Amino acid sequence: MEGWYTRGEEAFLKAYGRYDIVLEKGEGVYLYDTKGRRYLDFYAGIGVNSLGYRYPAYVEALQKQIDTLMHVSNYFYTPVAVEAAEAVKKATQLDAVFFCNSGTEATEGALKLARKYYYLKHGKADSEIISFHHSFHGRSTGSVKLTGNPAYQKAFGPLIEGVRYATLNDIESVKNLINERTAAIIVEPVQGEGGVYPCDQAFMKALRALCDEHDICLILDEVQSGMGRTGTIMTYFQYDIMPDIVCLAKGIGCGIPVGAFVANQKWAQAMQPGDHGSTYGGNPLACMAVKTVFEILEKEHLLDHVQEISQYLIQRLDEVVNEFDCVVERRGLGLMQGLVLNQEAKPVVHSLLDDGVIVVTAGTNVIRMLPPFIIQREHVDAFIDILKKNLKKLS
Ligand SMILES: *Cc1c(COP(=O)(O)O)cnc(C)c1O
Repeated sequence: MEGWYTRGEEAFLKAYGRYDIVLEKGEGVYLYDTKGRRYLDFYAGIGVNSLGYRYPAYVEALQKQIDTLMHVSNYFYTPVAVEAAEAVKKATQLDAVFFCNSGTEATEGALKLARKYYYLKHGKADSEIISFHHSFHGRSTGSVKLTGNPAYQKAFGPLIEGVRYATLNDIESVKNLINERTAAIIVEPVQGEGGVYPCDQAFMKALRALCDEHDICLILDEVQSGMGRTGTIMTYFQYDIMPDIVCLAKGIGCGIPVGAFVANQKWAQAMQPGDHGSTYGGNPLACMAVKTVFEILEKEHLLDHVQEISQYLIQRLDEVVNEFDCVVERRGLGLMQGLVLNQEAKPVVHSLLDDGVIVVTAGTNVIRMLPPFIIQREHVDAFIDILKKNLKKLS
């Protein structure tokens, strides 16, 4: 019995508009559907599969861990969890890690930690958080409130209180919202879902200075931009600033559901036993994924490769911007790139799928590319050829 798509439509809650393609396996930079068709992967499961599919050292490490220990709860440490936390500390250059299971939980946890710090300092729980228009921080009733997109919030109120929205790269709009109740500012160094908008250097520096001046927690949501996607292990190293808390997920597990928020000592000390928790959070299987991802990134010099191959991708995308009137501009950092169209991006994403290439949209008019780190020039060339062919139909 087949008919997977139809059966899926019968079996699932209709939370997603899914493509009528049923994926069955992956290998390297390619995915294969149940009909045996091959797709070049330029989205990596929405920025998750940085190592592509069936990366041998990753598969082997996880297989071993499954065969050893998968879950014990957070009443106990496990060697692999300690090693994973140490790797996260080293990569982020921050002090204390909390493992959770998703990006939503990472932003939610960061929000709670910032609020706890404020509570200890002021003795009351009336803090405010500043977020940004076009941002994306998750789907829980806390994180969706942080998400500066009314479409995701409208039906689900009442949401958490005390969140205000400023405009990215407009420091005055942030200053206008700061008051004595402001506990945190949360921002993505490169806004992903909202349309691939990078923060300006000066803006990021000014945010850091504002937070220092007012004892506000700077939370960087690097769920999508972090873990090497933009060419450095954390994007903030390119801005030459440190966050107080960073949120991670997506590429930190490369396929195993895992997230983390990581704080510096000043904020970390606000967390006390009983404040927060997760049954699964950082279980041995998830932590083996985290530990192995860091090991592979380092051993295979994958960040050097990301820097090199992303330069080539950028060069070829800029060529596309020059060549096609329907393409307005390119935005992004490293292997997190957006092509802004003068029209809706969804139809292009569909026609690319028909031609065996997977990308995603961002906002309404941006084609977003989040390829696995292991892509080579030949894959970029193949992608650009197919992209050009499909853009020709629009121009
Ligand atoms: C995807 C994403 C999230 C939410 O992550 P989930 O794992 O889907 O909960 C939060 N923040 C950013 C920046 C993201 O890209």
